[in-house]
Amino acid sequence: MSVYLVLDGSNDVVSAPIAQASSVKNACDALRRAAGLQATPRATLRLYSPAGTLVPIGPNTAPNTSDSPYRLVSKPDPQKKRGAVESVEAVSAVLSQVDDMKKSVALVRFKIEQIEKYSGPLSKDRPLLKPATRRANKVFQSMQLPINLPKHSISNEVFEQMKAPTFDIWMFRESELIHLMMHMFAEFDLIKTFQIDEQTLYTFLWVVKSTYNRNPFHNFQHCFCVTQMMYALLHVTSVHKRLTSLEKLALIVAAIGHDMDHPGFNNAYQINACTDLATTYNDMSPLENHHAAVLFTILNRPETNILGNLSAADYKEARKIIILCILATDMAKHGEIMSKFKGFAENFSYEDANHRQALFQILIKCSDISNEVRPKHVSEPWVDNLLEEFFSQSDREKLEGLPTAPFMDREKVTKPSAQVGFIGFVMIPLFELASKVLPDMEEPVLQPIRKALDYYKSCLDSTKKA
Ligand SMILES: [Zn+2]
Repeated sequence: MSVYLVLDGSNDVVSAPIAQASSVKNACDALRRAAGLQATPRATLRLYSPAGTLVPIGPNTAPNTSDSPYRLVSKPDPQKKRGAVESVEAVSAVLSQVDDMKKSVALVRFKIEQIEKYSGPLSKDRPLLKPATRRANKVFQSMQLPINLPKHSISNEVFEQMKAPTFDIWMFRESELIHLMMHMFAEFDLIKTFQIDEQTLYTFLWVVKSTYNRNPFHNFQHCFCVTQMMYALLHVTSVHKRLTSLEKLALIVAAIGHDMDHPGFNNAYQINACTDLATTYNDMSPLENHHAAVLFTILNRPETNILGNLSAADYKEARKIIILCILATDMAKHGEIMSKFKGFAENFSYEDANHRQALFQILIKCSDISNEVRPKHVSEPWVDNLLEEFFSQSDREKLEGLPTAPFMDREKVTKPSAQVGFIGFVMIPLFELASKVLPDMEEPVLQPIRKALDYYKSCLDSTKKA
């Protein structure tokens, strides 16, 4: 890459291959060659931006375009002393170092913010507490419990609409989403069956809401969408009639907790940046392990323990299914879970515990990536939110010198290209596989996905033509 410049007093734009220089001295030599100043090797060089600010000369000089060239000023050394060239090179080198230091300070500041945001203020006891305990403590400290259960004014019509994937989440405030979630427990008769205290359930859902961070995508609304889609899938396929109450309870609680305290940076980032979570879980699904650990840390508190009246055997079984489901949402496990279920799908038997567990994993995976099952006005904002979260991770990775993924890079991804790949290669195979076991998926679930694929393909085609 070259930088473009004009020699002071001239209008001719020339380019200098400065990025190939290995040192400040080489960069100065490249500028001299480009500007025809080889005869004055000891002259002082200064590079100015069009705005008139001094630009450090070196291999890292910021690239520009020929439309806005730098201005190169060459002043003969008045004292004609040896070392003048070296001095300008030294100044440039210092400016370049200052630039690097600014980036390092910004990075340290970001890391401290991340730790404080997600794990509480730095303190002596930090290393002694697991990240999940720190997060739960912080949430409980920030809330005045219990939160009294108020009356709601949500109509039965809305409750009915929740049984379909067409449900419009954007119509409701977060406090209303909590009442809608409570209704799912009531409608499946879980409150009565497992003697769940409604006040405890209400407090639990508020604590859950506070534990989700305000990320562009992985936030409380996403938690609600996944839970509602789980509820809708159980209804449209009528599979809820084949499951036990305990299994329905576990599936709903797993969906509610499946992304708790998501930091907005994925597993690859956690592992590459050697974060607390990656260290705690030895790089094995650090996020999903953390989500499950935060959920159970909150369930262990008496104010929010909605599983407190389960028998020991039921609690053990519910915990097993919840953990199994949350860990299944790690997309790194996608291929493994798909092939296992493919093996069971031909001769699926509800009598076989392994088959049932594999179905639970498929159900939560479908729910987790189900936005394109929804009508376009509901699903499309989620694409923007996800890309915003991806781009901000990729920007951060570039700043930290970590590996980046092309699908998260704002330079390489567009909304239609992201969606065509994801819907075609991930969503459709997953939902088609699920439909081999779950009945009645075609019209309410598969057709909207295929329609979304056609829509994004047409967007992609029109971008190519333009
Ligand atoms: Zn999720």
